[in-house]
Amino acid sequence: MQNLPEIDNLIKLISKLPGLGPKSAKRIILKMINNRQEILKPLSNNLSDVFKNIERCRICGTLKSNNNPCNNCEDKNKKYSKICVVENISDQWAIESSSNDNIEEVILATSATVEGQTTAFYIQDSIKNTNVKISKLAQGLPVGGEIETSDDGTLISAFKNRRDL
Ligand SMILES: [Zn+2]
Repeated sequence: MQNLPEIDNLIKLISKLPGLGPKSAKRIILKMINNRQEILKPLSNNLSDVFKNIERCRICGTLKSNNNPCNNCEDKNKKYSKICVVENISDQWAIESSSNDNIEEVILATSATVEGQTTAFYIQDSIKNTNVKISKLAQGLPVGGEIETSDDGTLISAFKNRRDL
């Protein structure tokens, strides 16, 4: 293949996407080039539209069109007293940029993975000096799960998070 800086740059950019390396990027680029009218042109236009028109809400962090108000935040009379944190660092930014004075509780809804628990700990540590109540989703046996097929970590978490009946 000839040295084509446009392709080399595109390989570098696509390789930065989650789960894609240079080989996958090359396959994607070849597919797009071989389907210029069906894939490459509309994808190019669509990416441009997304770049121009889609942004994160400065209050709640969700994606929104910059031509419309955020569906979560458009009602100025709504008062939020709880924040549910999900898997992204953008959620942390949303907490910081929201008016935390009115927030009574932050619910950490991160996964039971090392990354999810690290995120939860970071957020917990970030707001520990506030009067905001912090809680996290219970972890343990899945609905329909059997004890004999559960791994040790799941069982330990289930015992640790047991509740009175
Ligand atoms: Zn919003």
